[in-house]
Amino acid sequence: MRIQILDPLLANQIAAGEVVERPASVLKELLENSIDAGATQIKIDLEGGGIKGIVVTDNGRGITKEDLPLAFSRHATSKIVCMQDLENVNSLGFRGEALASISSVARVRLASKTNAQETGWEIAMEGRIGEYKMVPCPHPIGTTIEVQDLFFNTPARRKFLRTERTELLQIEEVLRRLLFSRFNINFQVKHQQKILFNVPEALTRDEKEKRIGLICGQEFVSQSIAIEASTFDLAISGWISLPQFSRSQPDMQYFYVNGRIVRDKLINHAVRLAYQDVLYGNRCPGYILFFNLPPDLVDVNVHPTKHEVRFRDSRLVHDFITSTLKESLQQITPQQIVQKTHYFVKPLPQQTPLEMKEDVAVYPIVQSAEKQVTKIEPFAAVVSQPLISLGFALGQLLGIYIVAENEAGMILVDMHAAHERVLYEKLKLQYQANEIVTQRLLVPITIQVNKKEADYVEDKHALFADLGFELARLSNETVVLRQVPALLQSKDVGRMVKDILSDEIEMDRSDRVHHYQNEILATIACRAAVRANTLLTVHEMNGLLRDLENTPNNGVCNHGRPTWQQFTLSDLDKFFLRGK
Ligand code: ADP
Ligand code: MG
Repeated sequence: MRIQILDPLLANQIAAGEVVERPASVLKELLENSIDAGATQIKIDLEGGGIKGIVVTDNGRGITKEDLPLAFSRHATSKIVCMQDLENVNSLGFRGEALASISSVARVRLASKTNAQETGWEIAMEGRIGEYKMVPCPHPIGTTIEVQDLFFNTPARRKFLRTERTELLQIEEVLRRLLFSRFNINFQVKHQQKILFNVPEALTRDEKEKRIGLICGQEFVSQSIAIEASTFDLAISGWISLPQFSRSQPDMQYFYVNGRIVRDKLINHAVRLAYQDVLYGNRCPGYILFFNLPPDLVDVNVHPTKHEVRFRDSRLVHDFITSTLKESLQQITPQQIVQKTHYFVKPLPQQTPLEMKEDVAVYPIVQSAEKQVTKIEPFAAVVSQPLISLGFALGQLLGIYIVAENEAGMILVDMHAAHERVLYEKLKLQYQANEIVTQRLLVPITIQVNKKEADYVEDKHALFADLGFELARLSNETVVLRQVPALLQSKDVGRMVKDILSDEIEMDRSDRVHHYQNEILATIACRAAVRANTLLTVHEMNGLLRDLENTPNNGVCNHGRPTWQQFTLSDLDKFFLRGK
């Protein structure tokens, strides 16, 4: 076989493989062009899941008559001229490939008018490269492009298309991404003449949240907070979900870098890290975030579909995102949660069962002789202004909840979850300051364990020491405990250490050494927190309320369960149909 230059049409069709995978990817390219053209109004008409037809009309700059044929040439673009432009690119497109690719695998017509022209012109591509027809055509300033019968001339690729329904779902996802990225654009989307989305321009925060609600569901809006932060070069803003709103799939995560949606491992990791203290296991947070930085600090020319980017200083970006989100999460005040959630009217979204280390089986025992009195140390120094008043305790409910009254109405606190969060945050603070306050036991405790657990103690001796435990192996199946963190002092510490060992071994964290300490601290906090049916005095209950008020992340326990809940007077009135 001799080497020969590919037929240009075939070359384009091959190149189309990279960017034109399905109707959704066609639509993405067309919309990006409209956005780059400065459109403020975009209409989209779809037929047959976009396979039969996609028509996009915009009110952007338009294309001059002379340029119309060029728009369909490969490597022809109006967006960059030289390498320096590429390094500072702020348009979504710049490769000059999309229209050439699309027109090689579908029937394409484009009509356009610029403000300098008297009349618009229409160009229809004939399938062969360089062959087209142009006729004058009335058109307002802007562009209409029509793409029909995707893959009509490449049957092998057409076979890979799914049902119209599935293709439409993909299109909707592309739309969601773009609709969030440009709040200033009015989008009208129809499928088979039926309206899918019609979102007006959204300039204020309320209007934006309304758009998000329309597209993502009101639930996300009501369970998220708006954030904004910037440094000299980096800026981030948007919405992140409260910890109690979580999903099993990462399907409500929108991250934009300089206005371009990206899916990036580094970013995922940064966000996950920010949530790790407040979100249980593999639950996924929801977010819509806009990250901006000078274009020369990010390379967008990494992938043909531009879904990936490369940061010049990825460490910096990663840490900026993590610390900003973490801070925002820590600053969520119970008040915000109260304002955002109305459980009486609308129950918490059903989450998959969250792990409860606490033994649920003991709950129904109300009048139990085993009720034991534990002393909870009230927080030593309450200096800072509490975020919210959780009021004063009225009593204990079924050995599980504290009932309190504050200005707004009634507060229910999950005793165990609340205490767990308080302990965890205290332990973390002490640990980070490298000063876990410890307490030597008067009588060392010998604990029977299995060999695996004893091995583990031997293995992790130094780590336990850092965490405030003096724990050593005595024999094949016994360990001895001589010192514990002072916070745990009043507990049955032998039992607790045994529980912690079995938890840690069961969870097998050997591969995640990085966040090991915090996770062990979380286990300790969970194991040390008051259990159900622990009798607390009113003084102790108030101590816990004050502690909780002054604890970061106080709305949820380490497993993502809510720690407390406000029932306002109007919630209660509604319930009792007062004033109706
Ligand atoms: P790119 O977007 O990478 O430049 P495309 O193949 O998508 O390449 O588009 C080629 C050119 O056609 C663009 O550079 C732009 O000048 C022009 N163009 C395409 N769509 C539009 C539109 N809706 N409005 C104005 N100009 C457009
Ligand atoms: Mg383009």
